[in-house]
Amino acid sequence: MTLSLKGTGISNGIAIGKIVAMQTGELEISEYVLPKHLVPDEIERFHHALDIAKQQLKDINQGIPDSAPSDISAFINTHLLMLDDSTLSKVPEQIINERQCNAEWALNMQQKTLVNVFEEMDDPYLRTRKDDVIHVVTRVQRILLELEKHPHEIPASKLRGRIILADDIAPSDAVLIMHQGIAGFITEHGGTTSHTAILARSLGIPGIVGLKSARRYLEEDETIIIDGESGDVVASPDEYTLKHYRKKQRDYKRFLSELKTLKGKPSRTKDRRNIKLHANIELPEDITAVKRVAAAGVGLYRTEFLFMNRTDSPGEEEQFQAYRKVVKSLNGAPVTIRTLDLGADKQVDGSGRTGTVTTNPALGLRAVRLCLREPAMFVPQLKAILRASAYGPVKIMIPMLSNLNELSQVLQLIDEAKFELKQRKQKFDNKIAVGGMIEIPAAAISASAFAEELDFLSIGTNDLIQYTLAIDRIDDDVNYLYDPVHPAVLKLIQMTIDAGKKTNTPVSMCGEMAGDVRYIRLLLGMGLKEFSMHPSSLLRVKKIIKESNTKELAPLARRVLRNSNRAKIVELIEKMNQQNL
Ligand code: PEP
Ligand code: MG
Repeated sequence: MTLSLKGTGISNGIAIGKIVAMQTGELEISEYVLPKHLVPDEIERFHHALDIAKQQLKDINQGIPDSAPSDISAFINTHLLMLDDSTLSKVPEQIINERQCNAEWALNMQQKTLVNVFEEMDDPYLRTRKDDVIHVVTRVQRILLELEKHPHEIPASKLRGRIILADDIAPSDAVLIMHQGIAGFITEHGGTTSHTAILARSLGIPGIVGLKSARRYLEEDETIIIDGESGDVVASPDEYTLKHYRKKQRDYKRFLSELKTLKGKPSRTKDRRNIKLHANIELPEDITAVKRVAAAGVGLYRTEFLFMNRTDSPGEEEQFQAYRKVVKSLNGAPVTIRTLDLGADKQVDGSGRTGTVTTNPALGLRAVRLCLREPAMFVPQLKAILRASAYGPVKIMIPMLSNLNELSQVLQLIDEAKFELKQRKQKFDNKIAVGGMIEIPAAAISASAFAEELDFLSIGTNDLIQYTLAIDRIDDDVNYLYDPVHPAVLKLIQMTIDAGKKTNTPVSMCGEMAGDVRYIRLLLGMGLKEFSMHPSSLLRVKKIIKESNTKELAPLARRVLRNSNRAKIVELIEKMNQQNL
């Protein structure tokens, strides 16, 4: 009988195939109390399992095909580093000692502690890093429990053309599974920003995550259809449904090859307006994806990722190397490097920073506020960015500005960093552009004042929406209120675009809204000329731009802005998207 289920689609495309079920994620673990004299043996058993886990990861790393995106080995290296970190190599040992318990249980306890820390984090990307902890711990527990062979050892012939069904897929397993020609996958856990989801998107493999209890409803060898965009799953489809989805699959493939032809083509509207399309990156390795779509440059380099998953902070030299790598590999295309956006809840182990965890971390000491409080951390970053500017066009972007005083303090520190580099006789671009993110309502309302002092503005809609609507962007309970087209949000975006026009200051948008195909025409109509987004959205957005006429969209956008009725706003936006404008 046909059965329909719905999860969260994380990568576009349709997959049709038979299920291969796997058990990869968290295990059911019980606690055993050990006699004291067996504790040293248990500790030895634990360390032996750690060694095997490391060896497995090293083997996986060696087997990564050349065709895999370069960020894949970064996932594996992160897991290797985690195994060496005292939080996973020493703390469980202490737990075994203190509780006289089995190693599996000690790992479970430590996993819970670490997961809680990650769950408190404000950034959705970092929050899903808790999955990495779970994946690493599970790998060691499987070894301790001598469970059946790991999923990566399943023969390729059993995976080709199949749809994987698992409780969860660790990125290290995903690397191997996804290079065996699988058609798609479904997991019961995981989020849209998990490494596995990122990998699936970069490889164009349709996937669905967060389909709770999927393994209860779906069976090995059953034929299913998954729609990676809508999150729809159809099990045991009838002929009619199969035909419908096969057509959708063919249409999508055609659409993709059409998109590929847009690579390198100008991003210009029908009324001949040039629109800049930049990419957002998090690590130097992301440049591969940027090049794959020939983005005009990097509009947001989230540098805080250099500081995560490690026990020390990268110093000036290490940051310089990373920034220079990005700048050089872009061959003259501009790179906008955002200064640190770490928050009170995102302290990095061993950084030496102190501070209490506040109840409202999003409103606390994060981003530029933290940087100004801790110049010893901030100034080396400014110097590293400045030094990288000797190798190609670089811009500095300041996150979370809320008043002009903060800005003048940052400008003062940039001057001091320049002075020191001059003394050291190190090269940099003395005229480096400095811009600010408009992501706090106060900054949007004062956008003209910021524009007078800055070389460019960039609208961070992820935070702008959060702060305008007073909803925590990571709190599932208020997620339903997160609305990019709330009239107040649109007014603030319009104010910022207008301030840019008035002062002749370029305005870009680098929040998720800029890569969301539903809002491109509205933003074009509002006068936005620069967009920065995840590379995977870029060609789709370019297609919309090439099919749009900003002159005809502008009056409709004005109508949207005059409206305060959400339903009407949505209707008008849909009209903009449907019409041949
Ligand atoms: C934003 O807030 O829109 C943004 C781009 O910054 P982040 O998502 O890194 O906070
Ligand atoms: Mg932000």
